[in-house]
Amino acid sequence: MSTTNFDRIVEGDSHAELLAHGGMYHDLFKFQTNAIGFAPQASPDFHDQAQDVRAMDQGRHERDQVNTTSRQEKRVRIVTKVVRDTRYATFQMAALAVPRDERKAVWCGQKDVPLRRLAAIRAAANGQDDRQAMAKKKALVTGILGQDGAYLAKRLLEGGYEVYGAARRSSSWNSWRLRDLGVEQHIKFEYFELLEYENMRRLIDRLRPDEVYNLAAQSFVASSFEQPLYTADADAMGVLRLLEVCRGIDTGIRFYQASSSEMYGGVSPAALNENTPFHPRSPYAVAKTFGHHATVNYRESYGMHASAGILFNHESPLRGREFVTRKITSVLAEMKAGAPTTLQLGNLEAKRDWGFAGDYVEAIHLMVRADKADDYVVATGQICSVRDFVIAAAAALGFELDWSGSGVDEKAHDRKTGKLIVEISPEFFRPAEVHTLLGDASKARRELGWAPKVDFEGLVTMMARADYDRAMSGKQLM
Ligand code: NDP
Ligand code: GDP
Repeated sequence: MSTTNFDRIVEGDSHAELLAHGGMYHDLFKFQTNAIGFAPQASPDFHDQAQDVRAMDQGRHERDQVNTTSRQEKRVRIVTKVVRDTRYATFQMAALAVPRDERKAVWCGQKDVPLRRLAAIRAAANGQDDRQAMAKKKALVTGILGQDGAYLAKRLLEGGYEVYGAARRSSSWNSWRLRDLGVEQHIKFEYFELLEYENMRRLIDRLRPDEVYNLAAQSFVASSFEQPLYTADADAMGVLRLLEVCRGIDTGIRFYQASSSEMYGGVSPAALNENTPFHPRSPYAVAKTFGHHATVNYRESYGMHASAGILFNHESPLRGREFVTRKITSVLAEMKAGAPTTLQLGNLEAKRDWGFAGDYVEAIHLMVRADKADDYVVATGQICSVRDFVIAAAAALGFELDWSGSGVDEKAHDRKTGKLIVEISPEFFRPAEVHTLLGDASKARRELGWAPKVDFEGLVTMMARADYDRAMSGKQLM
């Protein structure tokens, strides 16, 4: 079906066109509605009208009460209405099934709406809830074995998604986070490597996902100073590879890029938002800034539904142990359980806006489901120092800290036992420090309706308790 025909028909310029195409569109509509078992909501009298047309075609319309001047005029009127209703109802289904920016193409017949998406609309039309209606959506999550991959997989599975987990090969399968959340058995795993273009192209071509969440990355800032080239290849070029694959296969695939507050560089103590300029201060941040701009560029150049979440630090009991929060709670929990160790840290004055990863994956999903793709800061708006975190975690585990000394000689002992708890090690200082990161998530709150549920105290307590329980159960802390 061409735009020209549609336009001519709806404008009513040509009766011949109308008559020639009325039946065709009617048939198309019947085919579509039958295929998905969808009852046209927009046109309750559609079937009556269709019968009118059929009756008239069979010459049985003399008894009609409608006041028209001729049979031909009446047929034109009815067919016009059928075509309009067909067009409207078909479009209405498509409008529910595809993102806003793809609707024009569907309207013009340049893009097909996959039957599985229409089936989701049927579920909605039959009064089933969103979860059932989304039952057929396929999400591909890269970095599935990481912290956010686990929480996001859980959320998507709860939403009825078919979740494909993309993970790189390793000598030992490392899915403890997914097991911890009880979701491992529901995920379909696929090998995936950010450095391999053909690997991702084949995968996406085979799966044809509705949504791709790119969480995979070399995510540790400190390591990026040691492995800057690898970090750039994975965190910058890896994003571009994936965007390019999606563009080549289906620009309708919704894309999420895990951008980072590290891109701001912590040069300003003010709350940072989507309009704040970036000043990356590590190879990690430089690479993430490239990935961020690439995502924006593909959205602007090819109309892709590509969103980037500028997420501030988010933590959980599933956070990697090299990150400062989890390092603090896990080492303190081991000490509490009797292990002969001390907590060695670097810069205690660095300040972060720490949130809970479980809350942040909600924002990620909301971005991908929003009508319009965009960039969003995700943060709590509350800032604390590494020192604040140590004090809160120690308190949650029953330590009371006495601080002494300064600089690299600073130490903290437990007031009750005199035991050395914290000491400073120059090893954990960075070549360029990001001193302070405070986020302003007003846009995400306003446009996505997102808000964090767990505050700083809740987060520290959750992490400290989880690590203490693990340490006491004799399990090796991962
Ligand atoms: P994690 O480090 O926990 O997870 C990252 C995942 O990416 C891991 O599973 C890792 O695999 C995988 N990965 C790394 N390199 C490759 C590669 N070359 N090919 C395929 N997979 C790879 O990070 P988070 O879950 O905490 O973060 C998710 C994303 O969000 C990351 O991109 C991170 O940079 C970003 N981000 C995180 C923030 C946070 O505070 N958590 C803040 C802002 C952004 P493996 O398990 O084998 O190591
Ligand atoms: P980042 O914000 O992504 O770099 O997250 P991290 O948790 O790795 O670091 C947060 C802040 O804690 C940074 O400013 C670090 O310099 C500081 N920090 C202080 N001591 C440590 C430490 O022992 N390990 C880590 N990872 N960070 C530390």
